[in-house]
Amino acid sequence: MAAHVPSSAIVIDTHADTPQRFVDEQFDLADPLNGGHLNFESIRKGHLNAEFFSIWVEPKRFKGQYARRTLELIDSVRRQVDRHPDRVVFATTAEGIEEAHRTGKFAALMGIEGGHSIENSLALLRQYYALGVRYMTLTWANSNGWADSSGDIDDPTVPRTKDGLTEFGEQVVLEMNRLGMMVDISHVADPTFYRTHAVSRAPVFASHSGARALCDSPRNMTDEMLRAVAHSGGPRSKGGVVQVNFFSGFVSQEYRDAWNVLRPQVEKVVAGRQERAKAEGGEFPYAEEEKVWRGYMDTIPRPPLSRLIDQIDHIAKVAGIDHVGLGSDFDGVSGQLPQGLDSAADLPQIPQALLDRGYSAEECGKVLGGNLLRVFREVEAVSRALSTEPRSS
Ligand SMILES: [Zn+2]
Repeated sequence: MAAHVPSSAIVIDTHADTPQRFVDEQFDLADPLNGGHLNFESIRKGHLNAEFFSIWVEPKRFKGQYARRTLELIDSVRRQVDRHPDRVVFATTAEGIEEAHRTGKFAALMGIEGGHSIENSLALLRQYYALGVRYMTLTWANSNGWADSSGDIDDPTVPRTKDGLTEFGEQVVLEMNRLGMMVDISHVADPTFYRTHAVSRAPVFASHSGARALCDSPRNMTDEMLRAVAHSGGPRSKGGVVQVNFFSGFVSQEYRDAWNVLRPQVEKVVAGRQERAKAEGGEFPYAEEEKVWRGYMDTIPRPPLSRLIDQIDHIAKVAGIDHVGLGSDFDGVSGQLPQGLDSAADLPQIPQALLDRGYSAEECGKVLGGNLLRVFREVEAVSRALSTEPRSS
């Protein structure tokens, strides 16, 4: 950790896709990184205290088996905790994260990325909570019938909701509030963001998103949305938090422009490989597709780390220093991270850069994890308050 950041600072990252590696590559956190971003060594070097592991079900490959894949990914996180009880502790509360920090252990938490995992069932949502899931991103890049995604917003064949959320979608948000599951608005379409903001009784958060003013991606948030997150949760709330995604394609406009030039070429290659696989009676796995994308993206120069710091700085200026944090997307970004940021081991670069820009140690502590802890705690308090209210269903 940078020398000036208080050792009391708790470093929390809210999005890592490492569970895909746990399940598909039998990866273990004790293994060498081997191309990934997160393992015990990088966690230790980066002073990372808590990670929300992403439970992400690829919607095409696992069609018809969303719950099964969700459970396998959840199990993979629990297995890591079981295998390394000396180093990892499973956490489901803000207090649990602090307790892990006090005892020098790494806290593993879980968030579901994509509401399709609940297969239109509040019962499944409740059972995922029971298994320890503490946030859910309402959509991934796919709209799910009750919430719209920014990922397929331009696809006219995808049915849309009328107001961003259907009535069932509103029930999902309220049930999450009641359970104490953080409502994650990363990935959702703008109307879904605003509808969720209006419906949610607890502050909302973005587990891995950036500012659209600096990098024009539909995955990023407008200044108006950033301010809305800060004011979410009702008049007595201290507001939500935007956890900044590290992916260069969401961080830097230059990188994004270069990516947009390459994209049609890559899509053509991927489509060709998919057709060939189909003709041979197989399928072109998502992991292979990722490799193709990565190969092309590796040809684009990585943006400087300062672009990522610009993102944090912008959100701090627009929404407030109490409303920005870290949502790396480690092991999930199909391209590159900014220069100097190769794995979780490099996380201390961020507070150092913030200090260099004149942020105080206290402000750094908020960005590193203090803000997320505040939101998590408020979500827990809202859950307790709602549990005394009569339920309609
Ligand atoms: Zn994502």
